[in-house]
Amino acid sequence: MTERFGHFIDGTWRDPAGGAYFASTNPATLETLYEAARGDGADVEVAVASAARAFDAPTWRGLTATQRGRLLRRLGDLVGEHAEELATLESLDNGKLLREMRGQLASLPEYLYYYGGLADKIQGSQIPTNDLRILNYTQHEPLGVVAAITPWNSPLTLTTSKIAPALAAGNTVVIKPSEYTSRTVLRFAELAAQAGFPDGVVNVVTGLGNEAGAALVEHPGIAKISFTGSTRTGSAIASSAAARFIGCTLELGGKSPNIVFGDADVGNAAMGVIAGIFAAAGQTCIAGSRVFAHRSVYDELLERVSARAKSIVIGDPMDAATELGPLAFEAQLEKVRSYVGIGVDEGARVHSGGGSPDVALPGYFFEPTVLTDVTNQMRVVREEIFGPVAAIMPFDDEDEVVRLANDTEFGLAAGVWTQNLARAHRMSRRLDAGTIWINTYRAMSPMSPRQGFKNSGVGIEHGIESMHEYSRLKSVWVNTNEEPVGDPFVMRG
Ligand code: NAD
Repeated sequence: MTERFGHFIDGTWRDPAGGAYFASTNPATLETLYEAARGDGADVEVAVASAARAFDAPTWRGLTATQRGRLLRRLGDLVGEHAEELATLESLDNGKLLREMRGQLASLPEYLYYYGGLADKIQGSQIPTNDLRILNYTQHEPLGVVAAITPWNSPLTLTTSKIAPALAAGNTVVIKPSEYTSRTVLRFAELAAQAGFPDGVVNVVTGLGNEAGAALVEHPGIAKISFTGSTRTGSAIASSAAARFIGCTLELGGKSPNIVFGDADVGNAAMGVIAGIFAAAGQTCIAGSRVFAHRSVYDELLERVSARAKSIVIGDPMDAATELGPLAFEAQLEKVRSYVGIGVDEGARVHSGGGSPDVALPGYFFEPTVLTDVTNQMRVVREEIFGPVAAIMPFDDEDEVVRLANDTEFGLAAGVWTQNLARAHRMSRRLDAGTIWINTYRAMSPMSPRQGFKNSGVGIEHGIESMHEYSRLKSVWVNTNEEPVGDPFVMRG
């Protein structure tokens, strides 16, 4: 009998109001893993009410910042103790390599420790208003109930990036995980309860985007929406938030350039290109899907990248030897396949890969693919594919590659491979993206702020800066002058 999970609301499991469930499938084997509650507006109503109650309750509101920080650190310890279990569940659910998920889970406690440590360090300031009779100071306050809506590619990391600062700042949360990866987020909420977070502070409503997700976004009790996912959904969420004047943090899609100059160590750069586009089967927002190689090293880079791509071990993500697992679900596989076809129709050449690999499992596998003869105008270069498809293009000089790299609606990340120090720093200034990697790729830390420019997002995730995404700043004016008010028709400084 398939295991079944309800929502996690108010510190306990709860059956879906409508009684409906949906199945989650292992994308490598196509076996059904479990069923999760298919939430609707009624479930969201209960979850938001529970979070709103918890927000006002002395059990949460009455905690000091140090006490909130301690809860986050305790949760970090519990996540560390359950890292293997969580990594395995996540790998089964989304098809990413077990060793990749192990790496993510091993570093997840750091997120909780980091924001646990920041909880008591967000302080206001005293402002000299040039009126010596006035004491003016600022204070940070939590917003209320925060909605966190997350995708399937790195479920717990992306959820923790939102809720750790939200909780540190004193908010309560309702999480709507991706319908493809509900399991670990539910387990995480259980661990939060075990860590001592009061009931209702961390709630999870599972379900589909246009049902549970849309109901959560529209709920009038939500004070802030923090979303990671596609640019299309993010745009709809931003419109809804704008109509109610509530804030949103949006981490959206990308089409990141990975630029290899003629003076680069081409062997290292090739590894960076591989990491950028074939790690996680290209299903990362920061995928380096547009590769620009200086004409002097273009042939060598192409040869190295496609030789390595052809030797990538494709198969069961649970197997330690596997380097590339399946795509997360069938529509994702069809999307990737169709983009390769679109590229060919537009005149691109499939240099390597481009089809279904020979794998003993029935899952959604696709070969690591290198496209050449591409131009910046083609859809395969302009649109996010979210799969293991690299488009490699030559360039002749720095000005040209800056123009090409910035000629995109996205601005999430960019990689630069060069041994010229001046060029490295110059490029970091000239590239229009929120994260720049020099001679590395996919580096990330909860301590370092990241932000998508242009259509890649709004607001900051990670770092001290993201604490401010989850609090509001109040300015308090205190009159220390006891003399009677003279003229009430003149504004007081
Ligand atoms: P998606 O937008 O389809 O779904 C993301 C989440 O939103 C899911 O939980 C989904 O159920 C929910 N959702 C869908 N429609 C909704 C609606 N109308 N109202 C409310 N919620 C709704 O994205 P996805 O396919 O799950 O994830 C892949 C995308 O996420 C890619 O574009 C990728 O680049 C992006 N991503 C961005 C980052 C980043 O940090 N910038 C990180 C990872 C993934």
